[in-house]
Parts: sequence; C-alpha cells; structure tokens
Amino acid sequence: MAGAPDPRTYDLEALRRDALAQSGGAVDDSIPQLADADPEFCAVALALPDGTVRGSDQSDVTVSIQSAVKPFLFALALLDTDGEALDRIGVEPTGEAFDAIKLESGTGRPPNPMVNAGALLTAALVRGDDADARDARILEGLSAFAGRQLTVDEDVARNEHLLGDRNHALAHLMRAEGNLAVSADDAVAVYARACAVLIDAEALAVMGATLALGGVNPVTGDRVVPAVVARDVVSVMATCGVYDGSGRWMRRVGIPAKSSVSGGIVLSAPRCLGAAVLSPPLDEQGTSVRGAYTSKRLSDDLALHSFGEG
Ligand code: GLN
Repeated sequence: MAGAPDPRTYDLEALRRDALAQSGGAVDDSIPQLADADPEFCAVALALPDGTVRGSDQSDVTVSIQSAVKPFLFALALLDTDGEALDRIGVEPTGEAFDAIKLESGTGRPPNPMVNAGALLTAALVRGDDADARDARILEGLSAFAGRQLTVDEDVARNEHLLGDRNHALAHLMRAEGNLAVSADDAVAVYARACAVLIDAEALAVMGATLALGGVNPVTGDRVVPAVVARDVVSVMATCGVYDGSGRWMRRVGIPAKSSVSGGIVLSAPRCLGAAVLSPPLDEQGTSVRGAYTSKRLSDDLALHSFGEG
C-alpha cells in the first residue's frame, strides 16, 4: 500500500500506549505462575528480514511461551520425521477450544498441530531416544528459531505437567487409538516443558520471522528448517492458529499467527517480517485482547494483510 509506514521507523511506543488503553479480558488461571501475571504488562516487537529487531518498552520481559510454541514443535516434528508427521496429524481447523478432548473421527489422529492433542504428538515425534533427549532437542530447536539460547521455567513445567488433566486425558486417548508411541505421562511431560520455555517479545518476534522468511533466521543467518517446512507450518497457523477464532482472525488481521494463554501472539507475515505481542488478559478464545488489537493495527498500519493490496 502506498504510504504505509516503514517497519524500521514505525512508532512501537505509540502502538504500545494505544494497546494499553484497551481494557477487558481475564488473565489465565490454569497454573499459579500464569494467574500471577501483571495484567498491565504489554510488549511489542518486530523482526525484519535484514536482521533488525525492534522492541517496545518491556520487550525484554520474559513469560512462558505456552501455546505459541506449537508452530515450532510442528516444524521440528516435520524436520525430524522427514515430513512423516503430516501423515500422523490432520491440518483441519476444529472450531473448538484448544484443549477439546477430541480426535479426528475415523483415524483417531489429532485434528491439527495447533491444538493440544496435535502439540502433544508433535512434541513426541521430535527426535530423541527418551524424554530428556527430546526435551534437549526441543530447547535446541527453539533456540535456533529465536537466535539465542532459551531456558525453561522449571516451576511452570512442573505445574503444567501436574495440573494438565486434559492433556493427560488427550495423551491417553491417543495411546488408546494407537497414535502415540511414548507413554502418556512422557508425552505430557515433554509438552509441558516446551510450554514452559521462557521468551520475551523480541525472541518471539525472531521466531515468527524465521518461519515467515522461509526457515532462515534473519538475525543469525542460519537455516533452521527447510523452506517447505516453514511453508507448511505457516499455512497451518493461517487456518488453525487462533483456534475457533481463526476464520475471524484471518479476515480481520490476515497474518498467520499463534496465540497462547500467557498472552503471547506470534505473527509470521509471509516474506515480510515476524512480530510478537505479549499482554496477559485473554478473550473467550484464549487470545490476548491487547495482542489482537496490536496485531490488527500492525496489519493495517504496515499493510501486512496476506490478501490485502500489499
Ligand atoms: N498450558 C497450556 C496447555 O494446556 C497451553 C495452552 C495455551 O497456551 N492455549 O496446554
């Protein structure tokens, strides 16, 4: 679009201020660490193809990545299984909540990699002989996406594992369908640790950019995944990334994205940039209220809608 501001000079502080003026939503209370989040925390960051990373105030404050890890687990599973993960997981939107106890009818496969069933399986498909090896491989892979060494919040990991009753139920169901090779407890433990990886808005923006830019991290210059893997992942983010709000998201914002209960949204604008917003209060679909506002503003202000005039 003629006259769209340059992302290199776009005023992120003004955007953050406008985002903070958006009220509503509720902080997730599934585990104590999430329930204790500051509802007034808000950070925005952009990662550009030339490796520039720009962050607003608070963009170095860390939170657990939660479901924003799902696209990256899918990417690692595709990489480590040489694409075979695509036969093991569906790619259709569910129209249901992220933790719905439901598998694809007929096949018993998880409906898609962006809901919990799918992410439990992608985490189990990552290379590694045991849970510790898969944990290590996931942390190494996520760090490659972020372009820096990430760490795990062990208390969050423990609580996610302990309190994730629906995830245990989903893992048992997949075992019963013959679709999970590892034990249910092992699958939940590895997924819980992946959800507990700490990120800040800047790291998450770089992760989104790596997917948006065909699998090459713009900061390190490293190829993290093949272009076809990045393409497959971004396609599924576009159709399933915001759960039962994905259709509305694609029309309004038009940027493939993934939401999380810690209030994160990672955005991958194909061939343009990666972005991230973190702010804890969530709407009914589990999407950050300020994150949705900010994503729409970025889409409009920087002409990032996938089906817009460009
Ligand atoms: N901790 C969450 C879980 O139940 C992650 C969910 C999310 O962020 N939507 O698996």
